[in-house]
Amino acid sequence: MDLAKNKNFVYEQVAAAAAKAERQPSDISIIAVTKYVNSQVAEQLVDLGVKHIGENRVDKFLDKYQALKDKDVTWHLIGTLQRRKVKDVINLVDYFHALDSLKLAAEIQKRADHTIKCFLQVNISGEESKHGFNPTEVDSILEELAAFDKLEIVGLMTMAPIDASDRELDEIFKQTNDLRQRLKERNIKNMPFDDLSMGMSRDFPMAISNGSTFVRIGTSFFKE
Ligand SMILES: *Cc1c(COP(=O)(O)O)cnc(C)c1O
Repeated sequence: MDLAKNKNFVYEQVAAAAAKAERQPSDISIIAVTKYVNSQVAEQLVDLGVKHIGENRVDKFLDKYQALKDKDVTWHLIGTLQRRKVKDVINLVDYFHALDSLKLAAEIQKRADHTIKCFLQVNISGEESKHGFNPTEVDSILEELAAFDKLEIVGLMTMAPIDASDRELDEIFKQTNDLRQRLKERNIKNMPFDDLSMGMSRDFPMAISNGSTFVRIGTSFFKE
Protein backbone atom coordinates (compact mmCIF):
# COMPACT_ATOMS: atom_id res chain seq x y z
CA MET A 1 0.00 0.00 0.00
CA ASP A 2 1.40 3.38 -1.04
CA LEU A 3 -0.32 5.68 1.42
CA ALA A 4 1.04 8.94 -0.02
CA LYS A 5 -0.04 7.97 -3.52
CA ASN A 6 -3.52 6.93 -2.35
CA LYS A 7 -3.90 10.12 -0.33
CA ASN A 8 -2.93 12.28 -3.30
CA PHE A 9 -5.31 10.36 -5.52
CA VAL A 10 -8.24 10.87 -3.11
CA TYR A 11 -7.53 14.60 -2.81
CA GLU A 12 -7.24 14.94 -6.60
CA GLN A 13 -10.52 13.11 -7.14
CA VAL A 14 -12.30 15.31 -4.61
CA ALA A 15 -10.86 18.42 -6.27
CA ALA A 16 -11.96 17.14 -9.68
CA ALA A 17 -15.49 16.46 -8.44
CA ALA A 18 -15.60 19.93 -6.87
CA ALA A 19 -14.44 21.56 -10.11
CA LYS A 20 -17.04 19.67 -12.10
CA ALA A 21 -19.73 20.93 -9.71
CA GLU A 22 -18.29 24.48 -9.89
CA ARG A 23 -17.48 24.38 -6.19
CA GLN A 24 -14.29 25.22 -4.29
CA PRO A 25 -12.32 22.17 -3.07
CA SER A 26 -11.84 24.01 0.24
CA ASP A 27 -15.62 23.81 0.83
CA ILE A 28 -15.35 20.04 1.10
CA SER A 29 -13.69 18.45 4.13
CA ILE A 30 -12.16 15.04 3.54
CA ILE A 31 -12.54 12.71 6.52
CA ALA A 32 -10.15 9.75 6.43
CA VAL A 33 -12.07 6.82 7.91
CA THR A 34 -9.32 4.84 9.64
CA LYS A 35 -11.37 1.84 10.84
CA TYR A 36 -9.41 -0.50 8.55
CA VAL A 37 -5.97 0.42 9.91
CA ASN A 38 -4.05 0.79 13.18
CA SER A 39 -2.98 4.01 14.87
CA GLN A 40 0.48 4.01 13.23
CA VAL A 41 -1.06 4.10 9.77
CA ALA A 42 -3.54 6.75 10.86
CA GLU A 43 -0.63 8.82 12.14
CA GLN A 44 1.16 8.50 8.80
CA LEU A 45 -1.93 9.91 7.11
CA VAL A 46 -1.98 12.86 9.50
CA ASP A 47 1.70 13.45 8.79
CA LEU A 48 0.84 13.48 5.08
CA GLY A 49 -1.52 16.39 5.74
CA VAL A 50 -4.88 14.75 6.48
CA LYS A 51 -6.78 16.98 8.94
CA HIS A 52 -9.94 14.99 9.64
CA ILE A 53 -10.03 11.50 11.14
CA GLY A 54 -13.23 9.46 11.44
CA GLU A 55 -14.07 6.21 13.21
CA ASN A 56 -17.42 4.40 13.35
CA ARG A 57 -16.92 2.57 16.67
CA VAL A 58 -16.22 3.99 20.10
CA ASP A 59 -13.40 1.58 21.04
CA LYS A 60 -11.49 2.26 17.83
CA PHE A 61 -12.16 5.97 18.11
CA LEU A 62 -10.60 5.98 21.57
CA ASP A 63 -7.54 4.01 20.38
CA LYS A 64 -6.82 6.50 17.61
CA TYR A 65 -7.59 9.46 19.82
CA GLN A 66 -5.17 8.31 22.52
CA ALA A 67 -2.41 7.73 19.99
CA LEU A 68 -2.86 11.00 18.09
CA LYS A 69 -4.29 13.45 20.58
CA ASP A 70 -1.27 15.74 20.42
CA LYS A 71 -1.63 16.14 16.65
CA ASP A 72 -3.67 18.78 14.90
CA VAL A 73 -6.70 16.62 14.09
CA THR A 74 -10.44 17.25 13.87
CA TRP A 75 -12.17 14.18 15.30
CA HIS A 76 -15.28 12.62 13.80
CA LEU A 77 -17.40 9.84 15.26
CA ILE A 78 -19.35 8.68 12.23
CA GLY A 79 -21.15 5.50 13.36
CA THR A 80 -24.05 4.50 15.57
CA LEU A 81 -23.51 5.42 19.22
CA GLN A 82 -25.10 3.43 22.04
CA ARG A 83 -26.45 5.57 24.84
CA ARG A 84 -24.40 3.84 27.51
CA LYS A 85 -21.20 4.75 25.65
CA VAL A 86 -21.93 8.46 25.24
CA LYS A 87 -20.11 9.40 28.44
CA ASP A 88 -16.90 7.64 27.34
CA VAL A 89 -16.46 9.54 24.15
CA ILE A 90 -18.69 12.52 23.49
CA ASN A 91 -16.44 15.22 24.93
CA LEU A 92 -13.53 14.11 22.72
CA VAL A 93 -15.53 14.34 19.51
CA ASP A 94 -15.51 17.43 17.29
CA TYR A 95 -18.34 16.19 15.04
CA PHE A 96 -20.81 13.39 15.74
CA HIS A 97 -22.40 12.20 12.50
CA ALA A 98 -25.01 9.67 13.58
CA LEU A 99 -27.61 11.34 15.77
CA ASP A 100 -30.58 9.03 15.18
CA SER A 101 -32.93 9.35 18.17
CA LEU A 102 -34.20 11.85 20.71
CA LYS A 103 -33.13 9.55 23.53
CA LEU A 104 -29.57 9.69 22.27
CA ALA A 105 -29.82 13.48 22.00
CA ALA A 106 -30.98 13.63 25.63
CA GLU A 107 -28.03 11.54 26.77
CA ILE A 108 -25.58 13.76 24.86
CA GLN A 109 -27.19 16.81 26.46
CA LYS A 110 -26.66 15.23 29.88
CA ARG A 111 -23.01 14.24 29.37
CA ALA A 112 -21.59 17.03 27.20
CA ASP A 113 -19.38 19.62 28.87
CA HIS A 114 -19.43 21.89 25.82
CA THR A 115 -21.46 22.27 22.63
CA ILE A 116 -21.23 19.18 20.42
CA LYS A 117 -21.60 19.58 16.67
CA CYS A 118 -24.01 16.89 15.45
CA PHE A 119 -25.40 15.71 12.15
CA LEU A 120 -28.92 14.30 12.13
CA GLN A 121 -28.74 10.97 10.34
CA VAL A 122 -31.57 10.57 7.86
CA ASN A 123 -32.69 7.37 6.17
CA ILE A 124 -33.70 8.72 2.79
CA SER A 125 -33.86 5.39 0.97
CA GLY A 126 -36.12 3.83 3.64
CA GLU A 127 -33.95 0.70 3.91
CA GLU A 128 -34.89 -1.35 6.98
CA SER A 129 -31.29 -1.99 7.94
CA LYS A 130 -30.28 1.66 8.01
CA HIS A 131 -30.31 3.88 11.05
CA GLY A 132 -31.60 7.41 10.97
CA PHE A 133 -34.74 9.49 11.06
CA ASN A 134 -37.35 9.08 8.41
CA PRO A 135 -37.42 12.35 6.39
CA THR A 136 -41.11 12.80 7.21
CA GLU A 137 -40.48 12.73 10.98
CA VAL A 138 -37.58 15.18 11.02
CA ASP A 139 -39.78 18.27 11.09
CA SER A 140 -41.68 17.18 14.17
CA ILE A 141 -38.61 16.24 16.23
CA LEU A 142 -36.84 19.58 15.72
CA GLU A 143 -38.95 21.34 18.34
CA GLU A 144 -37.96 18.79 20.97
CA LEU A 145 -34.37 18.79 19.85
CA ALA A 146 -34.20 22.57 20.15
CA ALA A 147 -34.51 22.23 23.92
CA PHE A 148 -31.08 20.55 24.03
CA ASP A 149 -28.74 23.52 24.09
CA LYS A 150 -25.54 21.42 24.21
CA LEU A 151 -26.19 20.14 20.70
CA GLU A 152 -25.54 22.17 17.59
CA ILE A 153 -27.25 20.56 14.61
CA VAL A 154 -24.83 21.41 11.81
CA GLY A 155 -26.61 19.44 9.11
CA LEU A 156 -27.70 16.06 7.77
CA MET A 157 -25.83 12.81 7.30
CA THR A 158 -26.96 10.02 5.02
CA MET A 159 -25.73 6.69 3.72
CA ALA A 160 -26.87 5.28 0.40
CA PRO A 161 -27.67 1.58 -0.08
CA ILE A 162 -24.63 -0.38 -1.29
CA ASP A 163 -26.46 -1.57 -4.40
CA ALA A 164 -27.84 1.82 -5.44
CA SER A 165 -27.50 2.74 -9.11
CA ASP A 166 -25.97 6.08 -10.11
CA ARG A 167 -29.44 7.44 -10.74
CA GLU A 168 -30.64 6.34 -7.28
CA LEU A 169 -27.52 7.77 -5.61
CA ASP A 170 -28.07 11.08 -7.36
CA GLU A 171 -31.70 11.13 -6.19
CA ILE A 172 -30.86 10.21 -2.55
CA PHE A 173 -28.15 12.87 -2.26
CA LYS A 174 -30.31 15.49 -3.94
CA GLN A 175 -33.24 14.77 -1.62
CA THR A 176 -30.93 15.03 1.39
CA ASN A 177 -29.69 18.43 0.26
CA ASP A 178 -33.25 19.63 -0.44
CA LEU A 179 -34.33 18.54 3.04
CA ARG A 180 -31.32 20.31 4.59
CA GLN A 181 -32.18 23.51 2.76
CA ARG A 182 -35.80 23.35 3.91
CA LEU A 183 -34.77 22.74 7.55
CA LYS A 184 -32.25 25.57 7.36
CA GLU A 185 -35.05 27.93 6.37
CA ARG A 186 -36.80 27.19 9.66
CA ASN A 187 -34.05 29.26 11.29
CA ILE A 188 -34.02 27.38 14.59
CA LYS A 189 -31.47 28.41 17.17
CA ASN A 190 -28.48 26.02 17.39
CA MET A 191 -29.46 24.46 14.06
CA PRO A 192 -27.54 26.12 11.24
CA PHE A 193 -28.06 23.16 8.84
CA ASP A 194 -25.18 24.34 6.63
CA ASP A 195 -23.43 20.99 6.28
CA LEU A 196 -23.98 17.66 4.60
CA SER A 197 -22.09 14.51 5.56
CA MET A 198 -22.46 12.23 2.55
CA GLY A 199 -20.25 10.35 0.14
CA MET A 200 -17.96 7.36 0.72
CA SER A 201 -15.26 5.80 -1.47
CA ARG A 202 -17.63 4.55 -4.13
CA ASP A 203 -20.03 7.50 -4.32
CA PHE A 204 -18.28 10.70 -3.19
CA PRO A 205 -18.22 12.39 -6.65
CA MET A 206 -22.01 12.09 -6.81
CA ALA A 207 -22.33 13.39 -3.23
CA ILE A 208 -20.10 16.37 -4.01
CA SER A 209 -22.16 17.22 -7.09
CA ASN A 210 -25.17 17.37 -4.75
CA GLY A 211 -23.61 19.70 -2.20
CA SER A 212 -21.80 17.44 0.28
CA THR A 213 -19.44 19.34 2.61
CA PHE A 214 -17.97 16.34 4.47
CA VAL A 215 -17.03 13.17 2.61
CA ARG A 216 -16.19 10.06 4.68
CA ILE A 217 -13.58 8.06 2.82
CA GLY A 218 -11.98 4.82 3.99
CA THR A 219 -11.24 2.14 1.38
CA SER A 220 -9.71 4.50 -1.20
CA PHE A 221 -6.97 5.56 1.22
CA PHE A 222 -5.90 2.02 2.01
CA LYS A 223 -6.19 0.03 -1.19
CA GLU A 224 -3.20 -1.91 -2.51
C1 LIG B 1 -16.65 2.73 6.85
C2 LIG B 1 -17.49 3.92 6.76
C3 LIG B 1 -17.26 4.88 5.76
C4 LIG B 1 -16.17 4.75 4.71
O1 LIG B 1 -16.52 3.79 3.76
P1 LIG B 1 -15.56 3.41 2.53
O2 LIG B 1 -16.48 2.74 1.58
O3 LIG B 1 -14.53 2.49 3.08
O4 LIG B 1 -14.98 4.65 1.98
C5 LIG B 1 -18.08 6.00 5.74
N1 LIG B 1 -19.07 6.17 6.64
C6 LIG B 1 -19.33 5.26 7.61
C7 LIG B 1 -20.44 5.52 8.57
C8 LIG B 1 -18.54 4.11 7.70
O5 LIG B 1 -18.79 3.21 8.67
